[in-house]
Amino acid sequence: MRKNLVPGSFQLMKKINTGLILDAIRLYSPISRAEIAKMLNLTPATVTNITAELLKRNIIIESDLGQSTGGRKPVMLKINANSYYLIATHIGSTRVRVAIMNMESEILDSRTEKLYENIEYEVAQDILFRLIREIINDNKIEKNKILGIGASAHGIVNFEKGIIVFAPNFGWKNIPLKDILEDEFEIQTFVDRDVRSMALAESWYGEGREVESFICIKVGYGIGAAIINNKQQVRGVTDGLGEFGHTKIEIDGRKCICGNKGCLEAYASERSIIRFAKENGYEDDLSIEKINQETSHGNSKVIDAINKAGHYLGIGIANLINIFNPSLIVIGGDLIDVNDVFFQEVVQSAEKYALADLFEHVKIKRTKTGKDAIIKGAGLLVLDNLFDSIQREVII
Ligand SMILES: [Zn+2]
Repeated sequence: MRKNLVPGSFQLMKKINTGLILDAIRLYSPISRAEIAKMLNLTPATVTNITAELLKRNIIIESDLGQSTGGRKPVMLKINANSYYLIATHIGSTRVRVAIMNMESEILDSRTEKLYENIEYEVAQDILFRLIREIINDNKIEKNKILGIGASAHGIVNFEKGIIVFAPNFGWKNIPLKDILEDEFEIQTFVDRDVRSMALAESWYGEGREVESFICIKVGYGIGAAIINNKQQVRGVTDGLGEFGHTKIEIDGRKCICGNKGCLEAYASERSIIRFAKENGYEDDLSIEKINQETSHGNSKVIDAINKAGHYLGIGIANLINIFNPSLIVIGGDLIDVNDVFFQEVVQSAEKYALADLFEHVKIKRTKTGKDAIIKGAGLLVLDNLFDSIQREVII
C-alpha cells in the first residue's frame, strides 16, 4: 500500500474467515447463517460473530426469510450491493473505458473515449484521469466508499509490479500504471492484462463459473490467452503466459509485429480479417460493424476472409486442446462475440485438427459476459485480490 490510501475497508475486511464468508454470501445468496457454517465447516458462533460485524458495517444485509426445515424460518443474508464501489478501467487498443461497479459487480455507469494509434501516454493519461474523476463526481460517490481501482490493459502487463510493460498499439513501454493511479487518486489499484480480466469475469460470472479450470482466448487487435487453474490465474515465470497470438501457424509466413514470421496473430486477428478482405478485392474501409453487416448481406469477399481467419484460429485452438486437454475453452472479442460465421468456422477447424478423443471432451463457448467481460474483470481484480489476501491469511 502506498501513502495515505483512503479505503480503510481493506483493513476491516482482513479478518480471519471474513473473506470466505463474504465469498459464500456473494456466490450463494440469499443464504442462511446455518448454511454458511455447514458449507465452510465453521462453528455457528464464528459465522454469527462475523456476519454481525458485516451487518454493522453495512456490507451485507438481511433479506427475506428462507425455507424452514422444521423449526422457524431462517433469516437469509445477501451482499449489500451499494455498500462499496469499484472503479474499473480498460485501456484497449483503440479506446479507453471507465466504469463504476457495485459489490455485486453490476456496472452502474460507464463511459468510453477513443484512442488513436501511437497516442502519447501522457495524452491518454489525461483522458483516463478525467474519465475517472467525472464518473466519481457525476455519481456522487464518496471516496471512502471506493474499495479500489482495477485497471486492465492490452499488451504485456506485469501484475505484481502493476506495470504496462509494452502496449503494442501505442508503443508505450514500462508505464507504472499502479503507482500513477495510486498517486493521483490515493485509492489502492491493481493492474492486469485484458485477457486475464476477461478470464476472471468468466470465472466469477460467466461460462467458467461451474468449472475449476479453463482456457480463455481473446481475439481482437491481437490474440491472447489466459489459463485459470483451480480458480487461479496461471502466469508463467515472468507473467508472460498466454502469448497464444505469437505461436507459429505458417513456416516463413507473414511478418508479425513481434518481428517474427508466421504468427497466429498475423492470420486470425480482426486486423487479419480486414487484410484478407482487401486481398479478396473488398475496397471500402472495414470496421467490426461493417464486417458484420457484410456477413449478413452475404458478401463473399468478407465471408471468405472470416473463414480464413477462423480456420487458422481453429488450428491454434486444436494445438491448445492437444497440449492441455481442457474441458472448456471460452473465446471473446468484439467480432467473435457477435459474428456466428467466425465462431462456427473456429469450432469446425478445431474439431478437424484436434485429436478426436480430446475434442470429444472439450466445450468451446463464447463469453457469457460479452462486451462487458474485460471491464467487469478489471473491477473484479479488486475483489479477487481482497478475497485472495484474506484467504491466504486463513490458510496460514
Ligand atoms: Zn508474433
